Amino acid sequence: MSERIREKLTILADAAKYDVSCSSSGSNRRNTNKGLGDANGGGICHTYTEDGRCVSLLKILLTNHCIYDCAFCVSRRSNDVKRAAFTVDEVVELTMNFYRRNYIEGLFLSSGIFKNADFTMERLVRIVKKLRLEHRFNGYIHLKTIPGASQELLTEAGLYADRMSINLEMPTESGLKLLAPEKSHEEVKRPLGFVKNQIIALADERKIIKRTPKFVPAGQSTQMVIGATPETDMEVMYTANAYYKNFDLKRVYYSGYIPISHDSRMPAIGSQPPLLRENRLYQTDWLMRFYGFEVTELLNENNPHLDIDIDPKLSWALRNIQHFPVDVNTADYRMILRIPGVGVASARKIVTARKFGRLRSDQLKAMGIAWNRSRHFIRCADSGFILGDPDPMNLKGQILAESNSKYLTIPQNQLTLF
Ligand code: SF4
Repeated sequence: MSERIREKLTILADAAKYDVSCSSSGSNRRNTNKGLGDANGGGICHTYTEDGRCVSLLKILLTNHCIYDCAFCVSRRSNDVKRAAFTVDEVVELTMNFYRRNYIEGLFLSSGIFKNADFTMERLVRIVKKLRLEHRFNGYIHLKTIPGASQELLTEAGLYADRMSINLEMPTESGLKLLAPEKSHEEVKRPLGFVKNQIIALADERKIIKRTPKFVPAGQSTQMVIGATPETDMEVMYTANAYYKNFDLKRVYYSGYIPISHDSRMPAIGSQPPLLRENRLYQTDWLMRFYGFEVTELLNENNPHLDIDIDPKLSWALRNIQHFPVDVNTADYRMILRIPGVGVASARKIVTARKFGRLRSDQLKAMGIAWNRSRHFIRCADSGFILGDPDPMNLKGQILAESNSKYLTIPQNQLTLF
């Protein structure tokens, strides 16, 4: 690799690290025509799929030049940083070289916006097209959509990329206006809506005409920056919920803001990024997608912020203690899923195993449930007699005292931001 390319790579890989929306979950592109790569493969990882697989991606920007000046972004035009831009051929060659050396299993390609949206998007499309058609690259490709790009370019991009994403940036329109007055959520909704409709249309067509090409087979995602603007957790998750529902998103990513500039509108440089809050938001996201919770059950006007010291499922259980204890031998699956410390796999095991006899605590422990937490919320065949309802505050104190949760070991100074 030449010195010039190496320098570009250093600048453009570093600028890309702030985008966390690069999970490659859900793709099933297979190696065809003796091509190179296979998005199903596993290996050395930089990112995790939904099913827990690790995949490594070459994660770069095409350029960090940008005509916009979003205050939270390291590539904003007013920022005094070294700039660089790859050519189309350079990105293609890098991807192929890294793939052949087994460094990566795919490409995550984003870009600052130079000249205008179509000018930038057209180059991104040329890269993915060249990889797929000329180099028969079948590895995973996640392509960023450039806000404002034409529908023709989006349509073309969707035929070659596995996943497309476009960042909401801030969770609310007012937050976005505060830090990026030139941008709007409408600009994000339009392409998300267009790509969603194309995915549905082409999937319908494939039912009739088998040769209809796949379109964005791993779906769409978005990312929000958390902690740069003062939105509540309720506002963040209500936005996420609306985008999941309206645009069939595969994932919403929450990226704790890392202070990068002296700007009185945002947390000062040196402030800890809100990693624990980010974690709680992801947990809430999972409860909505896999545990049957409505977002309004977890966050509402009376409860606009997630607890920092306990996870959102335990927090919900303590606020709704009247639903507990749950008898695992008779309760429905939906309610078993709501027991703190019981995951989806354990809930399924419980429902299957109880067909063969009433379950006892030793069997529940053997199924891998977090007994320290769940025992306070469960009735099973050998449960002792409980007098009266437990006091939620006492219970919380007891669980925290017994817990060696990893969260308790995180330095508390990061909480001072909120
Ligand atoms: S448009 Fe994107 S790359 Fe450009 S400054 Fe805004 S967030 Fe950064």
